[in-house]
Amino acid sequence: MTTSSTAWQNWAGNVLCSPTGRPVPTTVAEVAEVVSVAASSGTRVKCVGAGHSFTPAAATDGVMISLDDLTGIESIVPTRDASGIVDGADVTVWAGTRLHRLGPLLWQLGLAQPNLGDFAEQSLAGAVSTGTHGTGYATSGLPDTVVGLQIVTADGSVLTCSRESHPEVFQAARLGIGALGIITKMTIHCVPAFALRAEEHPWTLTAALADLGGFARSADHAEFFWFPHTDAINVKRNTRLPGDADLQPVGRVRELIDDEFLSNEVYGAMCRAAARRPSLTPRLNRFASAALTARTYTDRSYKVFASPRRVRFREMEYAVPVAAAAGVLGDLRDAINRSGIVTPFPVEVRFAAADDVWLSTAYHRDVCYIAVHQFHLMDHTEYFRFAEEIFLAAGGRPHWGKMHTRTATDLATMVPGFDDFVSVRDRLDPDRVFGNEYTERVLP
Ligand SMILES: Cc1cc2nc3c(=O)[nH]c(=O)nc-3n(C[C@H](O)[C@H](O)[C@H](O)COP(=O)(O)OP(=O)(O)OC[C@H]3O[C@@H](n4cnc5c(N)ncnc54)[C@H](O)[C@@H]3O)c2cc1C
Repeated sequence: MTTSSTAWQNWAGNVLCSPTGRPVPTTVAEVAEVVSVAASSGTRVKCVGAGHSFTPAAATDGVMISLDDLTGIESIVPTRDASGIVDGADVTVWAGTRLHRLGPLLWQLGLAQPNLGDFAEQSLAGAVSTGTHGTGYATSGLPDTVVGLQIVTADGSVLTCSRESHPEVFQAARLGIGALGIITKMTIHCVPAFALRAEEHPWTLTAALADLGGFARSADHAEFFWFPHTDAINVKRNTRLPGDADLQPVGRVRELIDDEFLSNEVYGAMCRAAARRPSLTPRLNRFASAALTARTYTDRSYKVFASPRRVRFREMEYAVPVAAAAGVLGDLRDAINRSGIVTPFPVEVRFAAADDVWLSTAYHRDVCYIAVHQFHLMDHTEYFRFAEEIFLAAGGRPHWGKMHTRTATDLATMVPGFDDFVSVRDRLDPDRVFGNEYTERVLP
């Protein structure tokens, strides 16, 4: 097991901390030993994934464990539907596995994760632990695909749980913001490998808001990016096709131009120009929305879901009821226009089906996710303040890995499974071995 004691910061650069040690265990026994030793000396422990949360979810003043040496697929058990036909597999994956590595490994086995976010640098356990989601009116977020997990708890013991075994720990740990223990393995339900046909084109916010529910259902995975200070949106609709469908990926040259040059290099330069001269932002946004023209391509699901993101930003995202979403976006547009704030970053609009994960933003209701972003060199405070006010007025629930100002007292009334989660945590970690500044704010 290697270890160091260097300072740490998250991807966005807005969270910094100085752990007392940063061990990288190579076995479950080593994870248990680190936890036992720390707990017996009153030191707190936190597991970090890829450090891509915008909240201080992974920050610690104690020991920061990384599972970068606990990666890969451990086992696969085929699953069958009610009529006995194989409908996928339950795949046990080491918790430190990065999502961008998991996609190709699963594809080789004829399998895929049913849905993914728009980015894949995260670790599996980190992504699941904050409720990471993609888009799709009929598909839910990553925690809902977890069917079992192995967790090292505060006394150093190793617990394996599922709906059948320690069901309450399983329910809580499927989205546990690192507060219950160190997850060492996760079993996720995977579906047969599938391709996605992506259709991307410019459109208008006015047209999308006229029937937002219809837009959500217009493809298996529909989303759009709205450029504030304009009526322009870029739509992305992904339709599921069988895994052996004829693939027609974006050509390498177009990929370099659209996904690397326009979406990262040129876009980064535009954001820096907006930070230097904010009054240019509306014009830059009109240019950015027009630069990405229509395109259609078909590729492996994990390649279509995720794109590279190299321009740093800050983000807040709330899940609001689908029926309220058009009103929320209209209010957000009016508030941005009234406020005089500027942002070169689009607002991202996605959808997800209800699930039954206690801390999930989609617990027992279909949701529309609305995410506001700000370039990391521009002030986000006023923008995020009024955006959050609008989200809260519509009954929104905050993403656990993205910026928000809610406290345990607020969340207890906003998140229906909150009390159930808290009672499992009180039982598993009464001394708050896995506490940090974030859990002190969002949990009692
Ligand atoms: C560029 C970018 C794009 C993003 N895109 C999306 C998106 O499309 N959809 C979406 O929903 N979110 C998105 N996010 C948010 C991101 O998915 C979440 O914040 C996620 O938690 C990050 O995963 P991570 O591995 O970096 O976890 P970290 O940020 O390192 O940790 C997150 C939490 O998980 C806990 N944790 C990590 N590993 C373990 C473990 N083994 N056991 C127990 N707890 C653990 C940590 O302690 C912490 O509480 C994005 C973020 C960025 C920066």
